[in-house]
Amino acid sequence: MEKILLSLLSLGGMGFLFGAVLAFASKRFAVEKDPRAEAIREVLPGANCGACGYPGCDGFAEAVASGRAPVDGCTVGGSPVAVRVGSIMGVEVKQKERVIAHVLCQGDCHNAVNKYQYKGIQDCVAASMLAGGPKGCSYGCLGLGTCVKVCPFDAIHISDGSIAVVDRDKCTGCGKCVEACPKNLIELIPESNLVQVLCISKDPGKQVRENCKVGCIGCRLCLKACQFEAIDFVDNLARIRYDKCVNCMVCAEKCPTGAIYAHFAKRKVAFIHENKCIGCTACKKVCKFEAIEGEPEQKHRVLPDRCTGCGQCVERCPVNAISLNVREH
Ligand code: SF4
Ligand code: SF4
Repeated sequence: MEKILLSLLSLGGMGFLFGAVLAFASKRFAVEKDPRAEAIREVLPGANCGACGYPGCDGFAEAVASGRAPVDGCTVGGSPVAVRVGSIMGVEVKQKERVIAHVLCQGDCHNAVNKYQYKGIQDCVAASMLAGGPKGCSYGCLGLGTCVKVCPFDAIHISDGSIAVVDRDKCTGCGKCVEACPKNLIELIPESNLVQVLCISKDPGKQVRENCKVGCIGCRLCLKACQFEAIDFVDNLARIRYDKCVNCMVCAEKCPTGAIYAHFAKRKVAFIHENKCIGCTACKKVCKFEAIEGEPEQKHRVLPDRCTGCGQCVERCPVNAISLNVREH
């Protein structure tokens, strides 16, 4: 009996001692929580996608508060969240334009040929290890959806024609698909840029034609048509210079294969407000498409069929008499 009592007392004593040590340690070595981390966590979208490079939103918030991560590191939240995080951290954040992923290939099963039938693992990385994959064009989308699997926002899918397609509304521009694609086919492009070359083939034109109906064949018609020096050619492939492109979409109209894609549904048209026009002719002089008519000191007007919506006249008009409206289709 005595032994049992002694054991109980010594166990209780040890428990009390360990408890006291732990209580002391938790006070003595407690890590102070930065209140800014909690405030930042509150304004994050909570997607926990890891696109910022940290383990979820909690990890990112702590990294920002401790100065290890930039205030604009949350791609899902974009500029609005970056501004709020910046104000918590006392940093001014400039608004950045939203970017959207684009798959730079239109070589689906209707447009492109295969060089063999692939029956291996349904994964683009695995398929690309077998002689670059089954596509005749060694640059083309393999359509096995490696990008789809990594997208945390269900913003990319494989179409009926077996090619990756991005849902513009759902894409947050996190860039996970860009990293995952073994063909380096996906690019993040500013939302306001409405024209893209959807091909990355550097093959000679003849070879492109043999493999795909919608590839860039290097004919340079787009280069000649562009009035704004917004296209250049690298390795036989057209490239849009987003800093110069004004979305006139003329290159896409000229491209004989359709390799240049334009969001024609968003094409604009200029409109001159008669009550403001002073007939100075500034707009007429700057228009590269002869889409404005009118005599000096008379009201000018736009010829909608010629206007490409490039917006140069809007910038030049000294009395703000011109606006760009979305074209009625
Ligand atoms: S499509 Fe790509 S960039 Fe867009 S949300 Fe998905 S993974 Fe991110
Ligand atoms: S875009 Fe790249 S990862 Fe996505 S299906 Fe095509 S080849 Fe595969």
